[in-house]
Amino acid sequence: MKHLVLAFFLMLFAAQNIFAQTPTKNDADRRIDILLSKMTLEEKVGQMTQVTLDVVCEGEPYNLKSPLAISMPKLKKAVIDYKVGSILNTGISANTQQRWHEIINAIQDAAKDTKLKIPVLYGIDAIHGANYTQGTTLFPQQIGLAATWNPQLTEELGAIAAYETRASAIPWTFSPVLDLGRNPLWPRIWEGFGEDVFLSSELGKALTRGYQGKNMADKFRVAACLKHFTCYGAPLSGKDRTPAWVPERYLHEYYIPGFAAAINEGAASIMINSGERNGIPSHADKHLLTEILRNQLNFKGVAVSDWEDIILLHTRHHVAATPKEAVKIAVMAGIDMSMVPTDFSFSDYLVQLVKDGEVPMTRIDEATRRILKMKMDLGLFEKTHYPTSDYPKFASEEFRLKSLQGAQECLVLLKNQKNILPLAKSAKILVTGPSANTMRSLNGGWTYSWQGNIADELAKDKNTILEAVQAKIGAANVTYVEGSTFKEPINIEAAAEAAKNVDAVVLCLGETSYTEHEGSFDNILLEDAQIDLANAVAKAGKPVILILAEGRPRVFNKIEPKMNAIVYVPLPGNEGGNALADVIFGDINPSGKMPITYPKHPNSLINYDHKYTENVKGMANIFDPQFEFGTGLSYTNFGYKNLTLSKSLISNSDELTISVDVTNTGTRAGKEVVQLYISDLYASITPPVRRLRGFEKIDLKAGQTRSVTFKIKAKDLAFVGLDNKFINEAGDFRVNIGGLTAMFALK
Ligand code: BGC
Repeated sequence: MKHLVLAFFLMLFAAQNIFAQTPTKNDADRRIDILLSKMTLEEKVGQMTQVTLDVVCEGEPYNLKSPLAISMPKLKKAVIDYKVGSILNTGISANTQQRWHEIINAIQDAAKDTKLKIPVLYGIDAIHGANYTQGTTLFPQQIGLAATWNPQLTEELGAIAAYETRASAIPWTFSPVLDLGRNPLWPRIWEGFGEDVFLSSELGKALTRGYQGKNMADKFRVAACLKHFTCYGAPLSGKDRTPAWVPERYLHEYYIPGFAAAINEGAASIMINSGERNGIPSHADKHLLTEILRNQLNFKGVAVSDWEDIILLHTRHHVAATPKEAVKIAVMAGIDMSMVPTDFSFSDYLVQLVKDGEVPMTRIDEATRRILKMKMDLGLFEKTHYPTSDYPKFASEEFRLKSLQGAQECLVLLKNQKNILPLAKSAKILVTGPSANTMRSLNGGWTYSWQGNIADELAKDKNTILEAVQAKIGAANVTYVEGSTFKEPINIEAAAEAAKNVDAVVLCLGETSYTEHEGSFDNILLEDAQIDLANAVAKAGKPVILILAEGRPRVFNKIEPKMNAIVYVPLPGNEGGNALADVIFGDINPSGKMPITYPKHPNSLINYDHKYTENVKGMANIFDPQFEFGTGLSYTNFGYKNLTLSKSLISNSDELTISVDVTNTGTRAGKEVVQLYISDLYASITPPVRRLRGFEKIDLKAGQTRSVTFKIKAKDLAFVGLDNKFINEAGDFRVNIGGLTAMFALK
């Protein structure tokens, strides 16, 4: 009898589990078939429509009532009358976790009142943590993650962002950015992983894994959205959303591989570039959105437009004579979902276009199927969100410590004359400069609001650089004089005077927070007021530690020789101040490396993997950056020995093993990023001088040696040839790791 009872309970348990399981692919497809067969044209077009929270809240778009309140009549219009499938965030201000639950509850309750009860997909820019929820764990922006050169840590931080975003009842983040930051003028360079294809691809995969895990229906995971496909980061002028000119060859070699890698990792969605490439707006580019994205990259997920970008084909790009034609062009090019975002014009036009026979129903079904599939994969049909009590680690100390590790590992020590750093904790310090006492320069845009402009209020319990230095060595040892704002002098003389009475100056320069067009500028030089402040404090003759807290590199060659030490602080997040104090006073050994080439001259904005002809010895065009890609100092030293190649001649099918011994030759433990560069010496398309082809971050105790191994195949050395396809050519290659070189040849 006992056994019978046990068997009954086991069966019951198994049966419950079957229902709890996410449907298998076939189940999902069958469920979608049934749903599609019941849906009207208007319902399908509704799924393809995304509006902002502005449209369903009290007040007017861009001018909402505060605090945010759902307007029931407006919500009814959007979800019930227009049957919208998705709502996205508004950039005004972060909500509490509780408030998010109320908002999402109201939206999903409205969806339950529709005929098919299809849940609404809420999307948000949670790009360095759940940055639109108050009190969450904010870690480095992607440029900072790139400076850690640590994929494992990147994945862990992505998982924390997913956890806290889902804990806020939101299942979809518009991240990661896989635009390559090859133009330092671009105001969103900090939103990506820097200039290198390989580094960006590896970290993009890691962040995607962190967000989505193995199963997006898991209540601790969210769907990723790769953006912005593609070449957004390559505007010729450097300004936001201005034309890019990228030949097909470099499109494939540089601007697609990062997306391809994250697509292979299973990324659920992709957002399209608002800009144009070679005269074709990406939202109108069928070659890009269908031939490349679907047919070549085999992307199965949802392609969402960027903000207002379909109508902009008419109003901004001038490729569509009417807004209706804009909708037709974009949908036929391959857009599945329109981030409209503040009205229902897209739905109205698209319904009409289908009725007029200008957009085939098959295209509508294809797009709707992808959107329903994403909702199903997220488990939204089973449960749209879980109670806050399911998220005990929300804003926990465990998460804070991980974000602190991220902040510590992203700081790059660029100069350390006479080992002036670390400073003694007994030293008397002047802290000065515009980035010294603000959370904005540590966090950047998309921090509690779109432009990051309320970070000082919402992160007031977090330490700025000044507060962290005070906490580390005692307020009595710290003098603070603001000196200047980012653009204007305040009391530079007072700062210069104070510098005379201290042992060292921590000079905090850089930028405030910004994103998109608000970050576009005409001058890459560090502002005059900051240069004047640097010159003034340097006159005291005390060691000056320059802190560069900024989203993009600002040229400062005029003051560089006067700086005794330099630390690059790439938007490390809310723990950035603490991490920097740890580095300055030696509690942490810095291990970050540059993810970009830091320019020295305003007219020389060349990447590290440039062509040979950028660099002709004896002539004026010498490649002469302020700091090279991949560089970064430590408080210990690392020695490289025994670079060994398993073969000197490889075929297309061989694997080459490259190994090197790395020793910590100094007196304290430290982390080193072992970087493998390979140069193709001669090729039918002019080869770059070198390309990063592998890296590994290792942790070595003083005196410890480790052997690091890389595996390389011919396909890893391929380049895009004359016919715009990846090819390998026979020839000689040079390997360079830590200054050691070796040669091999490809048959
Ligand atoms: C940005 C995107 C962002 C979207 C939604 C756009 O303006 O370009 O990166 O995901 O807004 O907030």
